Amino acid sequence: AESRIANFGAGPSALPESVLHEAAQSLLNFNGTGIGIAEISHRSKEFDIYIKETANLIREQLDVPSTHEILFMQGGGTGQFSAVVLNLLARHRLLHPDLPEQDRVLDYVLTGSWSKAAYTEATRLANGATVRIAADSRAHSADGKSFNGLPPHSAYAFSSDPALIYYCENETVSGTQFAGTEGTPASFPFHLLPKNPTSGLLPLVGDYSSSFMSRPIPRLADHAIIYAGAQKNLGPAGVTIIIVRQDCIVDVDAAYRIGGAPIPISLAYKPYADNDSMPNTPSVLAIYVSGLVLKRNKGLGGVSYYEEFNKRKQEKVYDVLREGDAKGVLKPKVREGEGSWMNIVFGVIGEGAEARFLAGAEKRGMKGLKGHRSVGGIRVSLYNSVTEEWTDQLVAYIREFIEVES
Ligand code: PMP
Repeated sequence: AESRIANFGAGPSALPESVLHEAAQSLLNFNGTGIGIAEISHRSKEFDIYIKETANLIREQLDVPSTHEILFMQGGGTGQFSAVVLNLLARHRLLHPDLPEQDRVLDYVLTGSWSKAAYTEATRLANGATVRIAADSRAHSADGKSFNGLPPHSAYAFSSDPALIYYCENETVSGTQFAGTEGTPASFPFHLLPKNPTSGLLPLVGDYSSSFMSRPIPRLADHAIIYAGAQKNLGPAGVTIIIVRQDCIVDVDAAYRIGGAPIPISLAYKPYADNDSMPNTPSVLAIYVSGLVLKRNKGLGGVSYYEEFNKRKQEKVYDVLREGDAKGVLKPKVREGEGSWMNIVFGVIGEGAEARFLAGAEKRGMKGLKGHRSVGGIRVSLYNSVTEEWTDQLVAYIREFIEVES
């Protein structure tokens, strides 16, 4: 344990040490079965109980209503870029079989590279349906091409009866998040969503890959689908959590008889919903470790505990970032008040300064701070398992760095 360092990586990211110790034991012997967790059958009664308990821990901690199912799938966030389009277009075909394909509309809110990637996948899979941009934060940046903030509420234009409305709650690379309380400019504009679409309940999809379990999900019950890869706040890579409303779990073959293309069965929600997430072999080990993290979270007080904890951590980092900005040493890459709690992105001003910053951090045992290659600079990821001690250590180092450089 002494050899472990402060890991501010963007994902996969740190996991609680106590969980890793328990998982290490279970790699040899899971629940007294004499078989390790990476070796045991997913059809064993021990794992069957475990996966149901894990889904229940998510249900309990996020207050997921009985209208929604919790599924474990594979394929990561990227798999869901495809799955949400295919399943929700299938739903729309079943609801409106006679509609011309181009009248099925998919609305995307673009706030960063991940929502843009999801949009691009939708254009690949639309198969005649219309993919629209409902708002684009780049249009509101100074240079017209940077994802450095959120669109103002006045900029949203949703379709009246879309098959899908898509947003990414936390943009891991760009460092923006709909983190404001509802109604404030840095919140998702729920009040602007179409009222009473003829397709029934709203087909609202939220990518929560990098903020899942870090705080409560606003208006969870109003979503059609919320999904997240486990590998930031929850567990190892390899399992994707999907919270899906029952009307979005459809017979994709019946929809295919109406139009579109056949849907790969591994991306259809229904077989997963019908078989406790195990129509095929799930990510046993990743689900196991995620379950341990969820049990630990429960003991600490769940998402409201993490909301307070993560709020404090990001305030400390944004405070020192403002000091660095005032002294001309650091430069935030996101507009004030629109930044993410989970991924804080900034530049270091001056010749060779970024390399000095990173080398100094590494020397002090802090890693994972280099920004994504597409935006450069520094990215501080403050996921649930980043401790307050690590955060304080980083903030003290940044303050020292600002003194030396200014
Ligand atoms: N959405 C967001 C917000 C992400 O951060 C990521 C990955 N970092 C993805 C989607 C893609 O997820 P995956 O790598 O699991 O396919």
